[in-house]
Amino acid sequence: MFKGIFGRLLLTSLGVILIITAILLLLLSYTYTNFYTAEKEKRLTTAGKEITNLAERYLQGEIAKSDLTDKLKGTAHKHDSEISIFPLETNLGIEKNAEGLKRFTTHLTNDYFSSTDIARVLAGETVSKVTPEPEINLMSVAVPLKFEGKVIGGVSLHSPMYDVTAASARLYRLSAVIIVIAALVAIILAYFFSDYFSRPLQQMSRAALQIAQGNFSEKVTVKTKDELGALADSFNHMAGQLAKVEKTRRELIANISHELRTPMSFISGVLQGVNDATFSDRDREKYVTLALSEIERVNGLINDMLDLARLEHGDVKLERQKVNVQELILEVLAEKEPDFLQKKLEPHLHFKEDPYVLADPNRVKQMIINLLDNAIKFSGQHSLIQVGVDIADGMAEVWIKDFGPGIPEEEQEYIWDRFYKVDKTRKPEQGGSGLGLAITKMLAYAHNGTVGVKSEIGQGSTFYFMLPLWQAEERWC
Ligand code: ADP
Repeated sequence: MFKGIFGRLLLTSLGVILIITAILLLLLSYTYTNFYTAEKEKRLTTAGKEITNLAERYLQGEIAKSDLTDKLKGTAHKHDSEISIFPLETNLGIEKNAEGLKRFTTHLTNDYFSSTDIARVLAGETVSKVTPEPEINLMSVAVPLKFEGKVIGGVSLHSPMYDVTAASARLYRLSAVIIVIAALVAIILAYFFSDYFSRPLQQMSRAALQIAQGNFSEKVTVKTKDELGALADSFNHMAGQLAKVEKTRRELIANISHELRTPMSFISGVLQGVNDATFSDRDREKYVTLALSEIERVNGLINDMLDLARLEHGDVKLERQKVNVQELILEVLAEKEPDFLQKKLEPHLHFKEDPYVLADPNRVKQMIINLLDNAIKFSGQHSLIQVGVDIADGMAEVWIKDFGPGIPEEEQEYIWDRFYKVDKTRKPEQGGSGLGLAITKMLAYAHNGTVGVKSEIGQGSTFYFMLPLWQAEERWC
């Protein structure tokens, strides 16, 4: 029972309540008892002094004996005390206690005054004591009785301390009630708090189990603005990310199968035809050549996929060096000349400066080829393709502009995802696997660069990538 949050909270709060109450109780009872004892002592001393004054006046003949006895009775009643007057000499007229010093000292000693205390009273001091034994629990005060400036005896007052102990007992009872109420409050609070803490945790544990089984839709609904709310938000975010990863994984498998299925069935058809000798010699040569080019395409696709996977995992080692991008662009344009000629495309170069970048030349070439291939692919016959290099903020921007169909704005952020194609109906044999831009983006990132596109439907597209410029101090890299 005490292993859960409820039990732990309950134990902790009860422990804290008990410790605090015990400390408070100790302090309170100590101060309370001291205060009451001091008050009682003060009251008894005052009463004793009043009596000695009256006794003195009686001895001087100013008041009648009955006045003194009335006062004695009244005070004894008021303070619930036993009062005795002990004159040292018998001729003072207080007959009742007329046995002198011996009787006085015997009485006081009986009443727990020590000989030192008696000596102090006789020296004119007021002495008060609380008998130390708890079962007697009596306060005794002895006030010197003076006549004409001389101590002639004493007045002793004894009053039980039960009013003080009763007050302490009331305090203890009150504390017990407080402890019970506090314990009840602790149980209620522990219940609510444990519910408050454990509900989101249980929800998260349920959701985690669901996620483990592949169900990412389970959400944790904690709306509080505290750490638990933040944990729930992070959990939901994590579930969302996992869902995305899972979705990407499924899409990837679907895309790969889709990309491979058509060429594979074509190749298998050709091989079947060759095996069955169903082709004429001319057809066989034509289909085998086509099958070989399909194999080459599939090979290229597999290589691209592996390359992308390595780039995504940071497994690609770049041979960075000082690279003249313009030279690379010219190289690629020369290689692509047949494609330009075939579509009667016209390249326009916009080279203002001659920038050097810090990059892997083969990889930069690959990026230029990817963008240029797309520009050629999406340009109509007799179109213009502009290629340029600009410099800004320590970066060289290589851009390629075509006047093709353009890309809808809402799709522009997705074209960098692998296998994404704006024209979903395009068949694999029409070229393009949808990996070129993804590889270009990863390559730019690997070089601490960026990529981007500006495109408008019907106006064409400008694709660019940016690479850090080579700095003179990097010549030893
Ligand atoms: P693909 O091999 O299909 O060209 P990419 O990753 O290079 O793959 O491009 C992804 C998609 O982006 C393309 O399928 C196409 O829809 C769109 N795209 C890329 N370049 C251009 C361009 N120059 N003009 C219009 N659309 C483009």
